[in-house]
Amino acid sequence: MSEDNQEMRRRLMVLFKNHAEMVDAYISKFGMEINMKNVQAIRAEFPGVGDAIPAPAAEGTEMEPAPKDATEVVFKFNSKALTTPSVDPTLESPLYPRIVDCPICKKWGINSQELRAKSLSTLSDPFLAPVYATTGKFQSINYLLAGVTICHGCYLASPDRKDFVLYNRTTRQNQDSQLPPQVIRELKETIEKRKAFFDKTGIGEELFKIPRSYAAAIVAYQFADIRAEIEANAKVLGAYYKRGNYWTRIALLCRQAGMDDKRALSIAADHFKNAFMLSDFPKMDLEFQTIYILFNIFMYFDKQKDARDYLAVLDKTRQELEKKDAPPEVQAAARKWLEMGKNRWDDRDNPNFWKTPGL
Ligand SMILES: [Zn+2]
Repeated sequence: MSEDNQEMRRRLMVLFKNHAEMVDAYISKFGMEINMKNVQAIRAEFPGVGDAIPAPAAEGTEMEPAPKDATEVVFKFNSKALTTPSVDPTLESPLYPRIVDCPICKKWGINSQELRAKSLSTLSDPFLAPVYATTGKFQSINYLLAGVTICHGCYLASPDRKDFVLYNRTTRQNQDSQLPPQVIRELKETIEKRKAFFDKTGIGEELFKIPRSYAAAIVAYQFADIRAEIEANAKVLGAYYKRGNYWTRIALLCRQAGMDDKRALSIAADHFKNAFMLSDFPKMDLEFQTIYILFNIFMYFDKQKDARDYLAVLDKTRQELEKKDAPPEVQAAARKWLEMGKNRWDDRDNPNFWKTPGL
């Protein structure tokens, strides 16, 4: 078997929870390319095996799959979520405005807020979402409440400013959006759908005030996810990885607002699983990091067996990288994430195991 085929088999084994008969059925029917539609078809052929049935409730809180359409998730916000944390007005803001234009509806002068270098320090929550803290000199602003840029004409949203049209001060020229033409076309055709989602959330103009309330920030990341869903359908590299990360940030915002974070984390897990199965990573170490995040999400849902399966996959990957003499930095990254996972496992009885910094 070629190396690529082995790699594909390994992914299918994870996907079908080590049911080799499902992997064999997949390969004989669909060949050596992973496609989620085909995966579903094989699952349907093996009712009650592998991922096809939900785990019994006794194993822990149920994880629910991500909805087929990103606009289906509408949160009920509590009163804290509707507030914007206050800041010390005597201190300097860590944010500074960058004006961008929209590549979809051509609206110009959209308010985007960049973070001043070294103005905030960051820690991570257990799922590697960033928790911002002041370094003392600047206002303490949770950048998650400010980091997503949204067009008020068509609801294009992204925490990556390069998705918009940027003015480059050095060349004194506009720099085009990095979004591929196919994605731009699709975004133009779906403006009404995003408008309908905006109305459904009831968030109103709060979405465009920066810093936002927790609720508005959650909706802002949902709009970013709606964009990334279009990227995923267009097979843009890294789209599922981005979606997973948007949802771990939504989960963190839910926790910071005193809301339940389980739905957001199970959606994150679904996107990270897709990223892993499709090997959808711009850099290899992001795959190791993703396995580490999945390990933590499964632990959170008390699914220790699944969690350990992912660590085992990472250990196997590490061994294979050593065997085929992969670049030393790639091997080091695999070892680092595996070590972190093992340490987490050993630490699992620590009462602070799930502590989010600042909460
Ligand atoms: Zn627009």
